[in-house]
Amino acid sequence: MLIECDECGNQVSDKATACPNCGAPIESFNQDISSNTDDQQKVYVENTSKYLKKNSMIFAILLILGPFLMLFGMLVKALFPIGLIFTIIGFIGLTIYSFKIWWHHG
Ligand SMILES: [Zn+2]
Repeated sequence: MLIECDECGNQVSDKATACPNCGAPIESFNQDISSNTDDQQKVYVENTSKYLKKNSMIFAILLILGPFLMLFGMLVKALFPIGLIFTIIGFIGLTIYSFKIWWHHG
């Protein structure tokens, strides 16, 4: 593919590193696009996994707290259903988020 040199307007191959007419360095348009997209995707994946890990932590805490509350439910009955809900939400949430993390990294 031929592109126009920024300096002199000469038609130069996009694979050339410099313009043969004036010697100005050629920045390949295609290479720029692909490297930018790669960087943006990397940032996107890093941000998503941070976000997912933060959220899955909440579910992990629920899953740890849930059985404890259920245990305390033997002493204070009102705590048992809360513990049960925590356990269920924590379990479902962690399953969904570990699937999402796998999906974004796979
Ligand atoms: Zn040139």
